[in-house]
Amino acid sequence: MNDTTGLSVITVRTGLGLRDSLSALDIPARSRLYGLLPCKVGTIWTESLTSYINRLGWAHRISPRWLVVQELLPQVSGEYPAYPFATFCRQGKAMSINGTGNLAEEWSTALERLTGRFDLHLLTFYGWAGDFLEHGHLRQTPAWCPLCYAEWREQKLPLSQPLLWMLQIVTVCWRHKRRLEERCSHCQKHQSIITLETCSGYCTQCNTSLSSNPSTGLDQKIDIEELRWQEWVIRTLEELRLQWITTGVLSWEPFFASLARCMEKRGVCSKLADLTGFSRDVFYLWLGRKHRNFGHTPSLETLFEFCYACTITPLQVMETPDMLLQTIQKEPLPRQVRPNRFTRSRVNREDCLKLIHAVLDGREEPLGMYQLAKRLGHPQRVLFYHFPQECEQITQQAQAYRKKRKEQRVARVREEVRQTVVTLHAQGVFPSYGRVEALLSDPNLMRMPEARDTWRAVRRELGIAQQ
Ligand SMILES: [Zn+2]
Ligand SMILES: [Zn+2]
Repeated sequence: MNDTTGLSVITVRTGLGLRDSLSALDIPARSRLYGLLPCKVGTIWTESLTSYINRLGWAHRISPRWLVVQELLPQVSGEYPAYPFATFCRQGKAMSINGTGNLAEEWSTALERLTGRFDLHLLTFYGWAGDFLEHGHLRQTPAWCPLCYAEWREQKLPLSQPLLWMLQIVTVCWRHKRRLEERCSHCQKHQSIITLETCSGYCTQCNTSLSSNPSTGLDQKIDIEELRWQEWVIRTLEELRLQWITTGVLSWEPFFASLARCMEKRGVCSKLADLTGFSRDVFYLWLGRKHRNFGHTPSLETLFEFCYACTITPLQVMETPDMLLQTIQKEPLPRQVRPNRFTRSRVNREDCLKLIHAVLDGREEPLGMYQLAKRLGHPQRVLFYHFPQECEQITQQAQAYRKKRKEQRVARVREEVRQTVVTLHAQGVFPSYGRVEALLSDPNLMRMPEARDTWRAVRRELGIAQQ
């Protein structure tokens, strides 16, 4: 840590009084919080703003939620009070901090003020979706790629959540050609958006590393159609982002103007309906989207689906007014339709029961309903409908298994802390929190209340609780 950073630590921890006395010595005013560098992902992407908030909290060695409560909330008008704060941090609403609306603008501006940085608005989608709907394109909870996390951890890079992973439309990690995870493989829970206790890369619910035990097998099989669609989605998003970064604006108005001009030609509406599989009425609803009662603004996902079927990108439609018409009039147009997002396959009872019984009999490792549904390729509710009793047993077995795993893990952690304290003491070294934390196989273990309890208890046993 250099001198400059050191001063900003002092300023943050001791409040404004010290800042005033420093300015009297002609030292430039420091930012209230660290000007932490946002993580870059690839050439044009960065981490998301909520990922930045989480890392900023830990950089100050406080819980990110506390950082938000103490430093950020007093600076913003606060759209969250309708929600309990914990609910806000845990579910979809806080995701809007990365989005296109007021929350993203207000929070990024406040953070730029507090950190002295000028680039934090780039960690949101604010601005580059123009007058797009604020809701519907972001996920409810963060998704992640375990292999990316494992790589970053190995390269000693900070673990962050890229902005790209926050979009519903992005379902695959393009570097590893694997689906993004949405639930912890250990506790099966979704991740909080602003964390309370855990560091980036660890499950916010059970503190297990999110880079371990990535799901494998059937649930990771991605067919060529889906890969092609995801490649197009990511390339198209990059094209839009690059346009926004270089010009500073991105408006969807020209897109709808091009569509309107195109639809004036005879037969175009039917052709678009044929190509995309959308109803003809849908296009008129889009064109009238400014009318409250007669229009409808499509989601980003739907517009991407439309462009994909027309083999054109949104930016091409925006920038070259006649290109949409020219493209769809080409004969024959290569057929490319987004793979069905809701694939419904027939339930093969025999296959399903084979796996279910194998799990219940202990011939397969215990699976929760989420993993079972992924392995069998059917939604959970479908499995509950067809196999209610078996699903109930699977749920109970998974709960018991998770409870046992947690107890084993806590016991291992307790033992490790105990051994570390005893060893330090035997060497004549005082087992302070910092020394014990540094010697553990993972410093984050000390965030577990059980680890701290053991640390205190063993020190009491050794008669060295206070020093
Ligand atoms: Zn990856
Ligand atoms: Zn978990």
